[in-house]
Amino acid sequence: MLQVRGLTLDYAGAVALRGVDLDVEEGELVALVGANGAGKTSLLAGISGLHRPVGGSVRFRGTEIGALPAHRIARLGAALVPEGRRLFAHQTVRQNLLLGAYHERTERARAASLERVHALFPVLAERADQRAGTLSGGEQQMVALGRALMSRPSLLMLDEPSLGIAPKIAQMIFGVLAEIRAGGTTMLLVEQNLRAALALADRAYVLQTGTIVMSGPAAELADSDDVRRSYLGL
Ligand code: ATP
Repeated sequence: MLQVRGLTLDYAGAVALRGVDLDVEEGELVALVGANGAGKTSLLAGISGLHRPVGGSVRFRGTEIGALPAHRIARLGAALVPEGRRLFAHQTVRQNLLLGAYHERTERARAASLERVHALFPVLAERADQRAGTLSGGEQQMVALGRALMSRPSLLMLDEPSLGIAPKIAQMIFGVLAEIRAGGTTMLLVEQNLRAALALADRAYVLQTGTIVMSGPAAELADSDDVRRSYLGL
């Protein structure tokens, strides 16, 4: 579904990613882990069109998307739940969610997407008319995730969905991710909660200062002391 080859990305000449190769097969949940500043967010930005790579290629379902703008990539079916959620704080929960389905032509299609998100997160139906900025961190993360799901993506990319969220709510969000995956959505997950990410993932990549230094079945990486010590600072 996703094939990244030799991806190189910089910020005004400061290299953040150096020749990254990564694959995500249809139906897989792939975790991307690494210490702070390793380049995880940059990799998601490069794939989703938020930051134009300077080299390499990104193919999504057979189409080269490396030079496409973010909105085109989203419409092809690759949705991002960004770090820090990026909600419109003064808009209601419903308005925020509907933004994820802006390209749906019919009211009926939008309503169906909304219903699906409400089924996953019933609390968002209860809070539909509340301003997003007044919600708890966990509820805001549900809105961000729900907004991405409104476009019915085939690839869902998530940047640190459990960051700054109460452990109990984070656990619930991981449960929903498992449910979404069981429904057939492919996922690329960046997550600082290493144990939770590797428990959920099929495969994982370890990123260190802009380079993939290890990859393999998630269960193997989870058991490796070397990975934990050398690359993740644990
Ligand atoms: P974190 O877990 O802290 O978010 P990360 O693995 O997601 O880290 P990135 O945020 O992708 O890492 O950062 C990779 C490198 O690029 C870091 O050295 C960072 O300082 C740099 N960087 C990120 N964003 C920018 C930017 N907008 N301008 C300049 N440098 C940046």
